[in-house]
Amino acid sequence: MQYLYLQATYEKRLIFAGAPSRFEKIENRKTLKFTEFGFEEALQEGLDAMGFEKATPVQEQAIPPIMEGKDVLACAQTGTGKTAAFLLPMLNDLSKNPNEEAVQVLIIEPTRELAQQVDRELEALSYFTNVSSIAIYGGRDGHAMEQERRALKRGASIIVATPGRLTSHLDMGYVNFDALRFLILDEADRMLDMGFAPAIMNIVHKLPRERQTLLFSATMPSQIRKFAKQILNEPIAEINIAISKPAENILQLAYEVDDSAKIRLTQKVLEANQRLERVIIFAGRKRTVKELAQSLKQKGMSVGAIHSDLSQDEREEQLHAFKSGKTPVIVATDVISRGIDVKGIDAVINFDVPGDAEDYVHRIGRTARAEASGMAFTYVNAEDAYRFRKIEDLIERKVQRLPLPEELKDATPKPKGRRGGGGYRGRGKGGKKRSGKGRRKGKR
Ligand code: AMP
Repeated sequence: MQYLYLQATYEKRLIFAGAPSRFEKIENRKTLKFTEFGFEEALQEGLDAMGFEKATPVQEQAIPPIMEGKDVLACAQTGTGKTAAFLLPMLNDLSKNPNEEAVQVLIIEPTRELAQQVDRELEALSYFTNVSSIAIYGGRDGHAMEQERRALKRGASIIVATPGRLTSHLDMGYVNFDALRFLILDEADRMLDMGFAPAIMNIVHKLPRERQTLLFSATMPSQIRKFAKQILNEPIAEINIAISKPAENILQLAYEVDDSAKIRLTQKVLEANQRLERVIIFAGRKRTVKELAQSLKQKGMSVGAIHSDLSQDEREEQLHAFKSGKTPVIVATDVISRGIDVKGIDAVINFDVPGDAEDYVHRIGRTARAEASGMAFTYVNAEDAYRFRKIEDLIERKVQRLPLPEELKDATPKPKGRRGGGGYRGRGKGGKKRSGKGRRKGKR
């Protein structure tokens, strides 16, 4: 039934020039139902209210060892259902052993957007339980800090926090972790990338040694393993949900196109796909984000934009307008590529090739979350061709190229200085190869 629905949706959507008529099958997996975990009644009610019926693979693998009291090291990307994978068994434990007086759980998130999002999922899942939570994150004024201070003093069972803001509160000495039973580190690779390792270790040293620790990370490089070793206790259950591979139900497509025609191509793609109700366009630089949003607006489209020049409130406003459907298209830098959960995104457009395969997977993972399907278009100029091929190697898939619309045919990238053979090289004008990582460092 689900499959037929997706098939119909896809066929309706593939109406622009050059799109393939085939789509990818969504595997019909035999899955565990949540009722089989034997959760407390109040928690099961929350799951029913959210319409969660079957566990996703990461939930299937992580929930049993967490319920057995093991520490868990899990490699899973956003979009896999990893948040509920750590929230559910922890909430089940808290429902069985309530203690409203003291902090029992600390969840650390890399960004305020993720802290808010996890707190929202937590509130929804725990709606029928008597568990309380507080989200504390930076980027707001002193008044918010004071509100957080009061909430922390009043007490809550669960704190969802970003490392910097939590450290500020801890320094003031009114947070007591003596009764803490769970430490959850989410998006650990991102936190290390952002330089939070010392702050996290500092926090960890203030926690009781006897606790259950869960570490979730989208990738598992060696420094994450080393970090995990310092924080987790044996026995550790290790879970690995295939990384660096986009979900199977994303239709991935690419256009080979010069920068000069990318804005016109975006207009064409959006015009030809009016049925796409919610589209995120990612661009590497904030200047590009502003230019693109501006020119789409001039064409009469309702378009939002998110980049690092906006205040937290402005960003939230833009995200809200997008979520509510007021602006069906949003142009953003990677500020929102990871973790942000907006339901019903039909398509992602990569206005440029992301820095590396992980970024690519994170960006296109905004579509096709959980069991929905989605499309991802990537624009590849001559300079990025090499890097895109590396991404294809890593995701072990050749992304289908679409022909450019007739009027943009001139914008097909020209092969650069190749001696024989087709294709083009991934070198900048000065012949210097640009490192993907290096490009990510700029302010977004
Ligand atoms: P996450 O990977 O935690 O960001 O979750 C991705 C999205 O899937 C979120 O919107 C969740 O609310 C949703 N989700 C998580 N688990 C399930 C499930 N078992 N069934 C349906 N949706 C889910």
